[in-house]
Amino acid sequence: MKKVAFYTLGCKLNFSETSTISRMFEQKGYQKVDFDQTPDIFIINTCSVTENADKKCKKIVKEAKKISPNAYITIIGCYAQLKPKEIAEIEGVDAVLGAAEKFRIIELLDGFAKEQETKVLASEIKEAVQFNHAFSIHDRTRTFLKVQDGCNYGCAFCTIPLARGKSRSDSISQIVAAANEIAHTEVKEIVLTGVNIGDFGIQDGRRKESFANLVQALDQVEGIDRFRISSIEPNLLTNEIITFVSKSKRFVPHFHIPLQSGSNAILRAMGRRYLRELYVDRVSKIKALMPHCCIGVDVIVGFPGETDALFQETYQFLNELPVSYLHVFSYSERANTRAAEMEEVIPIKVRNERSKMLRILSEKKRRNFYEENLGLTYKVLFEEDVVDGKMHGFTENYIRVAAKYDPLLINEVKKVTLSEINDHGTVEVREPELQYEQH
Ligand code: SF4
Repeated sequence: MKKVAFYTLGCKLNFSETSTISRMFEQKGYQKVDFDQTPDIFIINTCSVTENADKKCKKIVKEAKKISPNAYITIIGCYAQLKPKEIAEIEGVDAVLGAAEKFRIIELLDGFAKEQETKVLASEIKEAVQFNHAFSIHDRTRTFLKVQDGCNYGCAFCTIPLARGKSRSDSISQIVAAANEIAHTEVKEIVLTGVNIGDFGIQDGRRKESFANLVQALDQVEGIDRFRISSIEPNLLTNEIITFVSKSKRFVPHFHIPLQSGSNAILRAMGRRYLRELYVDRVSKIKALMPHCCIGVDVIVGFPGETDALFQETYQFLNELPVSYLHVFSYSERANTRAAEMEEVIPIKVRNERSKMLRILSEKKRRNFYEENLGLTYKVLFEEDVVDGKMHGFTENYIRVAAKYDPLLINEVKKVTLSEINDHGTVEVREPELQYEQH
């Protein structure tokens, strides 16, 4: 029995795809092992958004060769689609598979026998038209369920459409079937994952269903305690979705909404499909219906043309908005994007300074949000994450809590009262074990 190990870089989508590919290997009789358990085959799932993707890829390949010098090393993922030839030159790589090929890996690399030449099987991205369904399972308390792939938007800074292709989705009936399958495992939370999930519903190039319909259908799935929407574009987050989530017992009050910039001039230059006024409107609508809803924000600093004054607009905008945390990205040039050709490039040092300012603001926002919730009672899904005798978990509205370690609480949903913020910035809870809830 050949042993196969996986390494995943990047987003939740990559994790769900690695997990599905690993199950395909197990079904074919391969044994899945950890990276350091001398595998015969390594599969490295790469990301194009990761800083220094090339260096990271080289480092992992080197590590793999050290562990199993004769193993077969395959590179898949976004970076493999964008730079297949570059990756093929990395010493030790046996095969590179693109977006249209990665789910056919076992068939295409038949037997994984090493050859003199590196195999490069990466079609042009327009060939990636099929939706390959994927979800992660048994790895965590929660599952990442892929419902959509690719993107038809063309934001000036983004390579994802080049790496993942056009927008396409699974059907609602297949997703509900997958959720039912997941409900028969121990998993309590499903995170809906995709590249642009608000654009859900395109099959074979035609819009057939909508994200709102998907949310309504999944809400009926018994056996899943929580559904979380991973990230949704503000212009696609409709009143219908917000209102439905506010009434749902399964969809949690947590939205992650990319903003990217609080300056309309920069939003236009980025080619985003909304202005700051729409963003304020979305946040206001959410907060009016769900005052304790957690709202996360993606923001990019140092985009070409972002003067100090325009950055200040973003800073003030975020400072005044009732959002809960920020994911801050320093703009970095990506080959073959419009932004890479733009003038008024912002020096790296300035990008880093702005990034630091927003990270500090994020901490302030998070702390404020946590403070607003102290004294309230929530349900926490406890994870197998134990540090210094404390276990951790998240409330419905994404507050990270710490409690005294109790193995019986792992993967259990418990009602707790939030008591105080500790030195690590997580929230201590009051005696969860006394409030044990039967399921
Ligand atoms: S919406 Fe814009 S940033 Fe998001 S994947 Fe599509 S092109 Fe990239």
